[in-house]
Amino acid sequence: MVAYFWAKTVRCTNPACAGEIPLVAHRWLSRRKGKPPVAYKLVPQPDRTLKVAIVQGQAAREANPSKGTMARGSTRCLFCPQTLSPDEVKAQFRAGKSARMMLAVAYKREGESGTLFRAARHTDREAFARAVAALAVAVAQHDDPFFPLVPDEAVAKPRGRYWLKVARYRVNTWGQMHNARQTLALVTFCRGVRDAHQALLDAGKSRVCPCLWVSLRFVDDNPTSARWASLTSPMLAAEPTRRASG
Ligand SMILES: [Zn+2]
Repeated sequence: MVAYFWAKTVRCTNPACAGEIPLVAHRWLSRRKGKPPVAYKLVPQPDRTLKVAIVQGQAAREANPSKGTMARGSTRCLFCPQTLSPDEVKAQFRAGKSARMMLAVAYKREGESGTLFRAARHTDREAFARAVAALAVAVAQHDDPFFPLVPDEAVAKPRGRYWLKVARYRVNTWGQMHNARQTLALVTFCRGVRDAHQALLDAGKSRVCPCLWVSLRFVDDNPTSARWASLTSPMLAAEPTRRASG
C-alpha cells in the first residue's frame, strides 16, 4: 500500500436527508505528466451510502474532478440540494459530530512501476479496525508513569498563517495528529528505535540515525491532516502554507 485516502465527513443539515458528506477539495488521484489522469467519482446509492468509482484517461477528465464537495468553506450535499455554510461545518467539528470515511487506496503491484488506485474495500476498513484494537491493547499495556505511549501534549495555539490550524478539525494534542493505524506504526517504530539503540549501546556503538530518519519521515508525511498531491504524489500537510519535506 502507498496511501489510504480518507475524508473527514459532516452530516447534511437537511433533516429529511442527514446524509454523510465527505469533505474533499478535489477528486484527482493522479495527474502525472506522461500518464493517463486518474480520478474518482462519488456516486450516491439508494441506501445513502457513497460508491467510489475510479476513472482514468478521458473518463477522468469528463468527471470534473477539480470540483470536490467543498468551495470556500461551504459544503454541498451529494444526496440532496442542501449546502452547508462554513459556520455549520465548523460547528459540527466543534461539537465532535464529524467523522471519517475511507474512500480509496493507492498501491503498487509487485514487479510493476507506477502507482495504482482502487476504491476502498470492506477488508481495508477491517484492517483499520484491527489496528484500532491493537493500539488499544498497546496503550493498556504501556506502564511508563512519565511518558504516555501516545503523546498527549497540546498542540500550541496558532501563531499566524504559517502555524498548523488543526484545532479546527478537533485535533488538540500531538497524539491526535495521526489515526490509529499510523499511531500503531509510529509506536512500533519508536519501540524499534529504542531497542536498536540499546542493542547498539550494548555493542559499544551509538548510531541509530537511519531508524530515526524513517520514523521522522513517517511523522512528517503521514498525519491525518495530510492531503494527496495528485501532480507529484507525495503527501503534503493540509495547511497550504506548510509543505511536508519530500
Ligand atoms: Zn442532504
